[in-house]
Amino acid sequence: MIGWQITEKDKLEKISGNEMLDDIESAKVKITASLLTEEDIAVMSGEDKSVSFPIIPSKTAIGQISELGQQSAYLAKGTRVFLSSVSPCGKCYHCTNGREKDCYSFKIAGYNRDGFLKDFAVKPVKELFALPPSVKDAEAVYLGYISLALSVIDKLNLQKGQHVAIFGADVLGAIIAQLIIYYQGVPILLDDDDEKLLLAKKSGVYYALNTEKKAEKEVLAITGGRLANKVVYISRSKLSTDLAFRLCAPSESIVFVGFSYPNMKVALSSAIAKNLSVICVTNGYGNVEPAINILANNALDLSNYYLVPTKMDDIEKNVGEMLKDYKAKKKVGNLLVNMLG
Ligand SMILES: [Zn+2]
Repeated sequence: MIGWQITEKDKLEKISGNEMLDDIESAKVKITASLLTEEDIAVMSGEDKSVSFPIIPSKTAIGQISELGQQSAYLAKGTRVFLSSVSPCGKCYHCTNGREKDCYSFKIAGYNRDGFLKDFAVKPVKELFALPPSVKDAEAVYLGYISLALSVIDKLNLQKGQHVAIFGADVLGAIIAQLIIYYQGVPILLDDDDEKLLLAKKSGVYYALNTEKKAEKEVLAITGGRLANKVVYISRSKLSTDLAFRLCAPSESIVFVGFSYPNMKVALSSAIAKNLSVICVTNGYGNVEPAINILANNALDLSNYYLVPTKMDDIEKNVGEMLKDYKAKKKVGNLLVNMLG
């Protein structure tokens, strides 16, 4: 196996090792594409002190089964699969009582166990999901985000026609907005970056507002003065949480979502004054299969978000640039790596 490992703060190194298939419940996967996001770069920068190095980054990968521990009804050698980044610990009170989705200590790729920036991985079969031929790799790399977005939808208790203000128009925000439409709500996407808003508009999101340009007034106009029924705040959007609380109607709910979160400090008094429910979502456990169905049903238009795959040889250079942007507090784009060359 060859891979790339964060050996210490700010340092990514190429490594080699063995990926041994020695368990009948597991399979060996040839990874064909890995996704690196701002979250991986934040880990690399030492943002979260609970992450210990060395660790291989990347929460999202696609691959092909190269070897199975035992015959499977669902997977065969050559099956194209999505690798899930999250698994319950199997040992805590909730896990041992059939409530794995509320696990006390999820194992998360690239965070507290090795991620997927490597050419081969051995994974339990239950963490591998076969991809239908109609789902393109370019879309499948977003299955982690789509699962996370579906967990948000699960928590929203959305009713038909309700307005949902979404803070953050990166690909996760855009996916949530499109899913809100799919579930018959009305998304209002907000960001301070016009380019991102335009991309979301092109993908079918009608209300895309710049937070710097009288967004509050516009939301009042769109909702007939009632404000948003629900608010979703992307944890890395760097937008005003105060505005997010202001745009939420009294006694409704706001969801904070992200696989990880910067050291966020949020003044809660306006949320308390309005009796808001504050909900947090940090993984999409249990939603990978529904997410694959969403893609297979063409419920999302991600064509404006397809990434151009980059070469393995350029990993260190590209990650170096992402780290530089991150430290300069610029927005960090996603990097798709072709793990075949
Ligand atoms: Zn557990």
